[in-house]
Amino acid sequence: MTSTAPRTPQDPPAQPSAGPALALTEVHKTYGATRAVDGVSLTVERGEFFGLLGPNGAGKTTLVEIMEGQRRADSGTVAVLGASPWPRDTALLPRIGVQTQTSAFFVRLTAREHLATMAALYRCDAAAAERALATVGLTEQGGTRVDDLSGGQRQRLAIASALVHDPELIFLDEPTAALDPQARRSLWQVLRDLKGQGRTIVYTTHHLDEAEALCDRVAIMVAGKVVALDSPARLIAAAGPTTRLLVPADRLTPERARAVEGVDRVTEEGGSLVLETTEAGRVLAAVDAIAGLQGVQTRTASLEDVYLELTGTGTGTGTGISQP
Ligand code: ADP
Repeated sequence: MTSTAPRTPQDPPAQPSAGPALALTEVHKTYGATRAVDGVSLTVERGEFFGLLGPNGAGKTTLVEIMEGQRRADSGTVAVLGASPWPRDTALLPRIGVQTQTSAFFVRLTAREHLATMAALYRCDAAAAERALATVGLTEQGGTRVDDLSGGQRQRLAIASALVHDPELIFLDEPTAALDPQARRSLWQVLRDLKGQGRTIVYTTHHLDEAEALCDRVAIMVAGKVVALDSPARLIAAAGPTTRLLVPADRLTPERARAVEGVDRVTEEGGSLVLETTEAGRVLAAVDAIAGLQGVQTRTASLEDVYLELTGTGTGTGTGISQP
């Protein structure tokens, strides 16, 4: 930190700079023979909610740590808010916020005291802790010891800790991991609000529905490389107009389904036959004539379908009743 005066969220950033929030060019990082990051180039604009997706071992953590200034790239260029994060830049640190899976807490303090301590480290005023509590919806639990918070409340506190100094750019690493569906949904609103405040968010998640709902753009990484980078809607559209019809398996045999004109592929999934088609209207009419439409569900492509296809774990390599 370079300034000695307390900062408040009303203050403008210490060094307003133009240009993108992140700009990476041909970044490489190897560990022995492992190419963890293998030539990644990408730009994240200011105010963007940017998702980083990929299977375990794809290189996401390594890439994010390079952006955060925790690891040094072997080669390539990295600009974070217009500055190089390596060697460690103490002027940059107050401008970024980091929440990790292993966020450390002062567990014997209350949530409010924990945040006040974090705020003090960044020379922020005491009100900053209160604002961060409110931002993540934890005001009522402010007096609860960190030890006694639920899993979801701890995740919120981890995000509040990353926010307390009012950073311009926030890195969130699977913030909804291990949350129940309700807590996950309510955290989505917190994340949307952060974006609404104009902050840039780099977001790692394994929840594809979450990435589809929250992210402006996503990068999908496989084996150290970015294999797709676009908005979820454009990635889905590019994947093609395939619709999946789910028909209760006791109503239609796979042979009969495969014989329906317009059906490209038939698989079985959890008690349903899945009919893939690009001519949903025609196939629906045929299914109606054969078996009726009660219990039939229609699903258009999702980001998850695109992801599974790109990461090589899609239905194309799966089991089930294969295509003709
Ligand atoms: P992800 O976050 O997508 O799971 P990582 O960046 O953690 O991917 O890992 C990418 C690859 O680099 C993996 O093959 C992993 O085993 C390897 N790796 C990560 N960190 C280290 C390390 N400190 N030393 C050696 N290999 C590592």
